[in-house]
Amino acid sequence: MPFAPVTAASRQALPDDLWIPVRGKDVGHLPGGGWLTVADAGDATMVCVGTVGERLVWAGEAAAVGSYTPWSALAADPAHEAGAVVRAVQIVAWRAAHRYCGSCAAPLLDCAGFLSRRCPSCEQLYMVRLGPVALVLVTSGDRALLVKHGYMAHDMWALVSGYLESGESMEDAARREVAEETGLALTSLTYAGSAPSAFGDPDVLLVGFRAEAASAELRIDPAEIAEARWFGRAEIGALGAEALPPAGSLALALIRNFAAM
Ligand SMILES: [Zn+2]
Repeated sequence: MPFAPVTAASRQALPDDLWIPVRGKDVGHLPGGGWLTVADAGDATMVCVGTVGERLVWAGEAAAVGSYTPWSALAADPAHEAGAVVRAVQIVAWRAAHRYCGSCAAPLLDCAGFLSRRCPSCEQLYMVRLGPVALVLVTSGDRALLVKHGYMAHDMWALVSGYLESGESMEDAARREVAEETGLALTSLTYAGSAPSAFGDPDVLLVGFRAEAASAELRIDPAEIAEARWFGRAEIGALGAEALPPAGSLALALIRNFAAM
């Protein structure tokens, strides 16, 4: 049953509606898996984030009931809709971080019918925003570049990536990140799809690219990249799942897609 986001509930919450409690980056569910319902929510404050089939989905800060799992693991579970989980974590975190006006410090009010908030004193409007990140599969002939980021806690081969800077296009960001992290110039750059982040921060929108490098000579930035290597298709095929980005992620889709070409 696909998840569809909504910005305003058509009615009040009912006990049978679906309920996603959020505790930091962890998301609540029934012990052993499955959705909680609003009947489990106690007196938690909740906001409607969408629908799964005919059922409304509500999210809010965690109540005591339920088991908790990191959001990225639950988003990769086909029994839970990834979009619902990502949106729940993002909206709850955004509301917690946007309680007061940044201009005049007055407490913000909810905008009826929207997820945004407004300042009753100076009328400043606050919208939920995403941070776009360029994610680049760089190839050199029949090999693809995989990197290990120094700032990642786990030992995983990933793709070159980085945040869009203000004033840039996504293509500019992709070229700049590849140049900064690996020293490579690109001869081609093609859009390859977008997705919410499946690990790291949920307020990221990943924008994927495929690119061809002008040369294979790497000059890595040790502040960002712990290791970088060119992989042939068979070498990628031989890597275990634990050595690659998580199931359901855009990075894994780009890598698997290259390996299958
Ligand atoms: Zn204000």
